[in-house]
Amino acid sequence: MKPLTGFSLLRPPTLVGALEMMSTLEHAQPIVGGTDIIPTFKDLGSKPVHLIDLGLIEELNGIMEEDGKILIGPTTTHTQILTSKVIEKTAPALHDAARWIGSVQIRNRGTIGGNLCNASPAADSAPPLLVHGAEAHICSLEEGHWIPLLELFKGPKMTVLKPNEILIGLRFPTIAGASSSFQRIGRRKGFTLSVVNAAVYVERKDDALKEARIALGSVAPTPIRAPVVEDKIRGKKMSEELIDEAAEACVEVAKPIDDVRGTAEYRKDMTAVLVKRALREAWRRTGGEL
Ligand SMILES: Cc1cc2nc3c(=O)[nH]c(=O)nc-3n(C[C@H](O)[C@H](O)[C@H](O)COP(=O)(O)OP(=O)(O)OC[C@H]3O[C@@H](n4cnc5c(N)ncnc54)[C@H](O)[C@@H]3O)c2cc1C
Repeated sequence: MKPLTGFSLLRPPTLVGALEMMSTLEHAQPIVGGTDIIPTFKDLGSKPVHLIDLGLIEELNGIMEEDGKILIGPTTTHTQILTSKVIEKTAPALHDAARWIGSVQIRNRGTIGGNLCNASPAADSAPPLLVHGAEAHICSLEEGHWIPLLELFKGPKMTVLKPNEILIGLRFPTIAGASSSFQRIGRRKGFTLSVVNAAVYVERKDDALKEARIALGSVAPTPIRAPVVEDKIRGKKMSEELIDEAAEACVEVAKPIDDVRGTAEYRKDMTAVLVKRALREAWRRTGGEL
């Protein structure tokens, strides 16, 4: 096996220490689980890179419920998400997604922050967080600010993060009576990236959709929301016909490409299938009947 060379690994114990490194060192990049970044090392050539390991910074890890909001630290692993009763109850779609990610080993090392900052259009945590209205806390040595999570993604493998910035937190509101579901299709049942994924969030009022949000992954250069479809179904009485209408409208929103994991045509067809499954499941989880 070839040794990994051409970089230094720095392990600051504090956030300020990490931010100082990010702002003073050339070609500095955060690392946590390394499950996305390490496989890219063969492309780095001899370029000097300082890897800033965020794993020792306690305040960046964990899940908290506070003042009607869920707060998640970026170094929280998929296993932590999967074993969190708070996430299972308040954001079932995120809990669903964590179950699908990689394998036990990948879930133990891979983090929610790494999944989002890697900015893959297929990232499984993105659609659930998007439908739950998540915001991302971005910080440099000089300042911190919150942005809607959707604005983090600029393109495949590209975020709006500046070279001196780190994602330091995620938050989304908890709404009584709301529920959500995440569905995906991969080339195998497990241990594979999504060919298409979808998350749906609903709030139920009697037999109607008081609120509906839909997000899709791997059908565009970034994970996307489907606001046109959401507007179409919001406030309507829930039925199989409405689910079909939403699913067909999502196919129009999806703009996938052909790649090694699937064709654009297959992705469009599967978008409809997954949106139907997610709408039915999220509705069922609110106690709604069809
Ligand atoms: C075998 C295998 C299977 C996988 N299966 C899946 C899957 O099913 N679904 C899925 O979505 N993904 C999957 N992945 C991808 C990967 O495991 C996840 O995206 C994981 O969550 C990445 O987290 P990490 O901590 O390992 O990120 P790292 O590799 O440490 O970092 C990833 C990127 O994010 C940046 N970064 C990390 N944290 C921060 C931060 N706080 N602020 C700013 N930038 C940051 C890094 O600089 C790097 O660019 C798989 C990977 C492998 C190797």
